[in-house]
Amino acid sequence: MRRTTAAYVLIAAAVGVLVAGCTSGTAATPVARAVLITNARIIDGTGSPARSGSVRIRGQRIADVGVLQPLPGDSIVDAGGLTLVPGFIDTHSHHDRGLDTNRSALAVVSQGVTTVVVGQDGGSHIPLAGFFAALEAHPVAINVASYVGHGSVRDSILGENYKRHATPAEVDRMRALVAQEMGAGALGLSTGLEYDPGIYSDPSEVLALARAAADSGGRYISHMRSEDRELFQAVDELINIGRVNHMPVQVSHAKLAMRSLWGRAPELLAKLDSARASGVDVTMDVYPYQFWQSTLTVLYPARDFDNRSTTEFVLREVAAPDGLLISRFEPNPEYAGKTVAEIARMRNSDPATTLEWLILTSEAARKSGGKAGQGVIATSMDERDIAKLIAWPFANISTDGELDGRHPRGFGSFPRVLGRYVREQQVVSLEEAIRKMTSLAAHNMGIADRGTIAPGMYADLTLLDPATVIDRATPADPHALSVGIDRVWVNGAVVYANGATTGAFPGRVIRRAPQR
Ligand SMILES: [Zn+2]
Repeated sequence: MRRTTAAYVLIAAAVGVLVAGCTSGTAATPVARAVLITNARIIDGTGSPARSGSVRIRGQRIADVGVLQPLPGDSIVDAGGLTLVPGFIDTHSHHDRGLDTNRSALAVVSQGVTTVVVGQDGGSHIPLAGFFAALEAHPVAINVASYVGHGSVRDSILGENYKRHATPAEVDRMRALVAQEMGAGALGLSTGLEYDPGIYSDPSEVLALARAAADSGGRYISHMRSEDRELFQAVDELINIGRVNHMPVQVSHAKLAMRSLWGRAPELLAKLDSARASGVDVTMDVYPYQFWQSTLTVLYPARDFDNRSTTEFVLREVAAPDGLLISRFEPNPEYAGKTVAEIARMRNSDPATTLEWLILTSEAARKSGGKAGQGVIATSMDERDIAKLIAWPFANISTDGELDGRHPRGFGSFPRVLGRYVREQQVVSLEEAIRKMTSLAAHNMGIADRGTIAPGMYADLTLLDPATVIDRATPADPHALSVGIDRVWVNGAVVYANGATTGAFPGRVIRRAPQR
C-alpha cells in the first residue's frame, strides 16, 4: 500500500495537483493545493436540476460545491458555462483487455467515463488480488472495480472437463474460491450463462455460488442464459437468485434480441417492477445500440451448429444475413468486416449453409489447436425497446465495450445516450440520464464514494457540452472519438482534455466496501 500511495503522489505532482502530507486520518490536516472549477452548470448526479456554480477539488476529493470565491492558492479552471457532471461509471466493461499497455484508456475517458467495472459475463482475473496489485503497481488513468467471474471459477475447478453439471464437492470448492475472491474485494459474482463453461451449470450451482458472494455482502450480475428464445425464463432465474439469497441482482446489457420479442419491453419491465415490489432488488444495465457483439456460437444455445432448422430460426428471428457482420474470423481473415449475406455471395452459397460453415470451420480449427477466433456484430434489437429500457428508473448505462474492439460501443455508448436519446429523442431528461450514468450506477454496483458531486466524494468529474455531445464511432470506424466531452478528471487529476489523454494515471482500484 505504501508504495502505491507514493506513486499517486508522484503522479499528482506531475499533473500539478500537489498532495502534501498523506497521513491517514490523524491530527495532521492534509494540505493540498486546490483547483477551483468556476462558471459551470453543475448536474450533481442525484437527478436534481442543473444549477450554476463552482466546484473546488482538493487532492483527490471534492472539497466544496456551490457559489464559491477563489481562495489564495486556488488554480482556476473556467468551465465556460459548460456542464460539469460526476465521472461516468461503466457497470459492464471489458476495457481491462490491454489496459496494462494502454494505460491512458482513450476509449473510456473520451466518453467521460472515469470508472469501469470488469470481470463481467462470468470472466474475471483470478486471483483478483494479483490483478489489483498489478494495477496499483502500474496505475492507469481510470478507476477499476471487478466482479469474480463464475466461468473463471468453474474453469479453475473443472478445467477441460466442463461440459456437465458440477458435483457437490466441486461446488464446495468453487464456493471457497468465490469467498477468496470476495475477500480480495470483488463486488460480487458475475455469470455468463450463454457462454462456455457457464452454460453447462445448473441453476442450483449458480444459486449456491451467488450465495457465497452474498455471504460476503456481494451482489450478482448476469449475462443471462438467454436474451432471445428463453428470455423470460432467464429473468426468472435471476430474480429467484435475488429472492432466495437476499442479494441485489442485475441484468447485464438488457436486450429483447429476437424479432418476436420486439415491442415487449413493457412486459419485461413489468416483470422486473413486480419483483421489486415483492422485495427483490433487481436492476439492469443497458447500452444504446440495436446490434450486439459476441461469438457466433451464442446463436446456438444447444451448440447444434449443423442443425438446419436452428440455423433457419437464427436467420429469421435473431438476425438477418445482412445483419450478421463478421467482426473477426481467424481461419479466413478476409471475411472479417463482411456480412453473412456478403460471404454467402462470395462463396456462391446460401446464407444458412454459409453461417454453419463459418461456425463449423472455426470449431474444427479450435479442436485442432489452430487459429479459431471469431466474432459477430448482430443486429437484433428494436429501437423502441432500447428507449424503453433506457428510461426504466432502475436501468443504468453501460458499454460492454473494449479498448480495441470492433463494436463502436467501446468508444461511443455514453455520448450516444446523451446525444441521441436525451437531446434528439428526449427519452429522459439530461439530469435523469446523468443520474443513470453516475449515482444510480454507483448504487447498483455498491460503490459508496463516487457518482455524485458533493463534498467528500472522489473528484471524478466530466465537463461536457449538452448541446453538441454525441458519439461518432460506427462499425466501420469503431474508434472514432465522440464530440462534446471537454475535460475529464479522475481522483482530482485531468486525464482527458482537448481531445487527447494527458498521460496522467491517477486511477485507483475500487474494492467492495466493507459490510455494514
Ligand atoms: Zn455479456
